[in-house]
Amino acid sequence: MYQMLIDGELVDGSASLEVINPATGEAFATCGRAEEDDLQRAVAAARNAFPAWAALSWTERSVYLNALADGIEERGEEIAQLLTDEQGKPLGQARFEVGASVAAFRYFSAQEMLPRVVVDEPTSQVIEHYSPVGVVAAITPWNFPLILLSVKLAAALATGNTVVAKPAPTTPLSSLLVGEVAAATLPAGVLNVIVDANDLGGLLSAHPDVAKVTFTGSTATGKKVMQSAASSLKRLTLELGGNDAAILLDDVDIDDVAPKIFNAATFNAGQVCMAAKRIYAPRAKYDALCDALADLANSAVVGDGHDPATAIGPIQNQMQFDKVMDLIEDSRQIGTIVAGGQRLNRPGFFIAPTVVRDLPDSARLVQEEQFGPVIPVLAYDDIDEVIERANDSEFGLAGTVWGKDVERAVEVAMRVRTGTVWVNKHLDLRFDVAFGGVKQSGLGREQGDDGLREFVETRVVSVAKA
Ligand code: ADP
Repeated sequence: MYQMLIDGELVDGSASLEVINPATGEAFATCGRAEEDDLQRAVAAARNAFPAWAALSWTERSVYLNALADGIEERGEEIAQLLTDEQGKPLGQARFEVGASVAAFRYFSAQEMLPRVVVDEPTSQVIEHYSPVGVVAAITPWNFPLILLSVKLAAALATGNTVVAKPAPTTPLSSLLVGEVAAATLPAGVLNVIVDANDLGGLLSAHPDVAKVTFTGSTATGKKVMQSAASSLKRLTLELGGNDAAILLDDVDIDDVAPKIFNAATFNAGQVCMAAKRIYAPRAKYDALCDALADLANSAVVGDGHDPATAIGPIQNQMQFDKVMDLIEDSRQIGTIVAGGQRLNRPGFFIAPTVVRDLPDSARLVQEEQFGPVIPVLAYDDIDEVIERANDSEFGLAGTVWGKDVERAVEVAMRVRTGTVWVNKHLDLRFDVAFGGVKQSGLGREQGDDGLREFVETRVVSVAKA
């Protein structure tokens, strides 16, 4: 039985949870689960641990965080295997996620935030100091359970906050292993990892002793977090949904771009907040792109993440599987499915990569976030029109522009209203570059200087000198 981490102790908690392998649809492990009492103990432990942790120097905290990184690295293969078991992703990608998580702790623990002298005049000196906010609740989803947790923990802990982490109930195990490593490397209470049955998020994000919530998940749940956080005016970082447009310009080489677009849409079985979710091609290249994407979909190897041949794994859970299948059925009525369009004839939550053409912009698959390997391909006639259609969304997370004339592609990118626009590439995320959404895709940024700033309060000390 995998255990939770509360106040430095590995504990079973008051309840338990079965974890399902999405490649089989069967439960394969059991873990401890929290009831309200356990959550209260976790928040109290984080609160008690806060003053001493905040009082350490940056360098002292980074020694702890590097020990945590080393511990995760030592158990890296075990964590990667478990990540594939619980999430479904190909093992190579799980290993990459473990490596990135180790790197996140090492990177953020090296970004010391020094006080900044803002004014230094004969009569006055003003210095900005950065102090941690307190107890941070880190709430994570099931698509990238480990790296999303690690980026939050690394930034929160390095800046001197203590944390209660709550993974998604369908992918708790990799987070619990981080908790096991933390039990041996961090002071008690600095990090607590609890599991729920999708029932404690509201309590955690409304808790009066939680000073900040850093959340990654759907826009709908993000709104609930914002409401719960209002009670004590908590600090918030929300990384929410996206409906990213990929805009192909008329000078693209379809053979070159199609595999990149396919990957941008189907990486992690399309369960990526910044996946390419609507593809816009110039009308003259529309048929060629649809055909190329259909060929790629038909030849993609879909299977168990433990099979080295697998490129695309299962959908992570039954609920999401049903949602994606429903979008496919809706699209079948109003568009033309040119590849896929069905589940695989085997146990587990597998969906054949699906390409849909001839949909109206009003189609649910175009308007909503599909979060699955289903690609709507749309035709456009001129640039102003396609930019308007791309921007006509409540989401504003990211997007891509593809074109041989890079200057022109950048001009188009500058008109796309999202937090990130990639030109001729996708998914280039870096610890030193801020990522986040505009509109209903979120609030605040993660990573980069902006991301670290979200975990501190600015304290101004203004001194009369003469
Ligand atoms: P998805 O699983 O589709 O990403 P969610 O946004 O529902 O969707 O889940 C993200 C995380 O938010 C999960 O850890 C989930 O348990 C948690 N969560 C669910 N409801 C709430 C809530 N009311 N407040 C805070 N967190 C919640």
